[in-house]
Amino acid sequence: MKDDRTPRDIAIDDQLRAAGAEGADWLMASGWGAPVTIPVQKAARWQREARARMLAAEASDTWTFCKHLCAGGPQPVVVHAETPERMLCRACSIAERATRPCLICGKPAASESPADGREDVIMGPVAIYTRLRCATCYRADPLHGTFAGSGF
Ligand SMILES: [Zn+2]
Ligand SMILES: [Zn+2]
Repeated sequence: MKDDRTPRDIAIDDQLRAAGAEGADWLMASGWGAPVTIPVQKAARWQREARARMLAAEASDTWTFCKHLCAGGPQPVVVHAETPERMLCRACSIAERATRPCLICGKPAASESPADGREDVIMGPVAIYTRLRCATCYRADPLHGTFAGSGF
């Protein structure tokens, strides 16, 4: 880490460190159940791809943060698998849930709550990754990649 970090860089570092500390509590409280943390090598392919794209966006400084993450102190960061170059706060992630697409087919996922099981949530070392699937794609492959709440 270089010493010429900008205030924005430092804020981002704080965000990423805070993700692990608060994220687990939030996932429990939001209905996803206990978060699952797995080594990157064993992560589902969708999560590895989201992570790779997120890191590429970081390297090229093309990633974006919702305005809440840039103000109000460190808090967990949420990464949506369909748009991993965008970092979101928890409230923005929840607000977008209704309009997120299915990661498999790109159609509206139309998932209304974590209770339907079609959102997979994985806690990475620095961010919470989630993907949504539509009912059709979920039924076609209900277990593959579904870690939260599945006992995996
Ligand atoms: Zn936000
Ligand atoms: Zn689908």
